[in-house]
Amino acid sequence: MKKFSIDFLHKIFLKYRGNLNQQLDIDTIYTDSREVVTNGLFVPIIGERFNGHDFLLQAVDKGAVASLWSEKEEIPADLPDDFLLFFVEDTLEGLQQLATEYRDYINPTVIGVTGSNGKTTTKELIGSSLSEFYQVTKTEGNLNNLIGLPLSILRMPVQTEVLVLEMGMSGFGEIERLSEIAKPNIAVITNIGESHIEHLGSREGIAKAKLEIVKGLSEDGVLIVDGDEPLLEVDLSQRIVTCGFNSGLDYEVKDVVQKKSETTFTINEQLFSIPLLGMHQAKNTAYALAISDLLRIDSSKMAHSLANLSLPGMRFEQIATKSGAVVVNDAYNASATSMRASIDVIKRFSESYKVLVLGDIFELGQFAESEHRKVGEVINQEIDAVFTVGQDSQYIIKALPSDFNGRAEHFDNRDMLLNEIENYMKKDTVILFKASRGMKFEQLVQQLVS
Ligand code: ATP
Ligand code: MG
Repeated sequence: MKKFSIDFLHKIFLKYRGNLNQQLDIDTIYTDSREVVTNGLFVPIIGERFNGHDFLLQAVDKGAVASLWSEKEEIPADLPDDFLLFFVEDTLEGLQQLATEYRDYINPTVIGVTGSNGKTTTKELIGSSLSEFYQVTKTEGNLNNLIGLPLSILRMPVQTEVLVLEMGMSGFGEIERLSEIAKPNIAVITNIGESHIEHLGSREGIAKAKLEIVKGLSEDGVLIVDGDEPLLEVDLSQRIVTCGFNSGLDYEVKDVVQKKSETTFTINEQLFSIPLLGMHQAKNTAYALAISDLLRIDSSKMAHSLANLSLPGMRFEQIATKSGAVVVNDAYNASATSMRASIDVIKRFSESYKVLVLGDIFELGQFAESEHRKVGEVINQEIDAVFTVGQDSQYIIKALPSDFNGRAEHFDNRDMLLNEIENYMKKDTVILFKASRGMKFEQLVQQLVS
């Protein structure tokens, strides 16, 4: 089905060049000139290293039939005269404006998910569990920034009833802008951690930046928050729903039991089971349940849907190796909070021997030492060995409790680390790999399990 008529586009962008009267309708709005499209509207973005305007002819070759165009840029001489260009002052703003107009035109229930940790997981949990009941579109992968979020909106099929969007940030003002573009009816703040503390100064700063999500929240909208986080106790004109482990919250999670491949728990006395591991996943489930209540889904049907989730590309991938050891690849990314959460999950594994392989957490600036130390502090007797590699991760070892009597060693050299880990590749052992994305820990895992 054609999604964007030329008429729709022309109402938004008055200035144009080319032939408006051709029977063109646009299927795809996109920014990557290498993408092969049919009936595509290309949006050239000016980035740090590239100017998308330089790639218009390539986009035309690959199927673009129209393009946004910055008034300041020179039009390529070889462009056919009737090729349609809509002129804007700023192409990124043009893309964002298009997204908002399309959001209003389709008018689904929009759910915005932000937080320091667990955005993608919670977005997937919400999206997958609701899709049994509604036509749901969710952010693909991690497209959560000022370019990715508009593209996610513009990709939604016209029949979408619920749109679940991940909203990320690295500084003040970004979530506000994302929220203004998406205008959520329901906003979720999964937790306040320490990611990007370098730019935001303090956990208070981080909370403030996440709370910007209410800027675009509709007046009759609902904010769902981590009720265990005092920094999220705020006054709003909109309704606030709290989820977590503390008593007295709207959605109270209790009796969490982690099993081999599922976690069971109760939320307000009702029993749930999910095919994901850890306390934090129980809390993420409470967010999904709160939303399903707002959308009037029967909670026992929702429990059934949650129990049967299959989530693509999940973090915390468990790999059974020939040696008998279970290797857990959680190398996708890390913050101190998520590292502690993953260590907590490992502690609950049934394997007798538990080994942690941890790397640096990036972007912590002056907080680097203290945040790495916070990880070391939660490592106790339940863990048999902890190895770190990189630079700041040495502080994890330095902060181990004095009564920790397992093996602990910091490595500068990845090969020496791998040699050491080989000794633990045996039955009844679980080995966790976790570090920031840039540490490329998946390569270590690859070398070990291949
Ligand atoms: P990114 O900023 O990289 O997009 P994200 O916020 O999307 O990250 P996820 O990729 O969903 O986060 O999860 C990252 C890690 O955060 C998981 O491996 C898990 O250990 C941890 N995590 C997930 N949910 C929570 C939560 N509610 N509280 C604390 N930690 C969590
Ligand atoms: Mg994410």
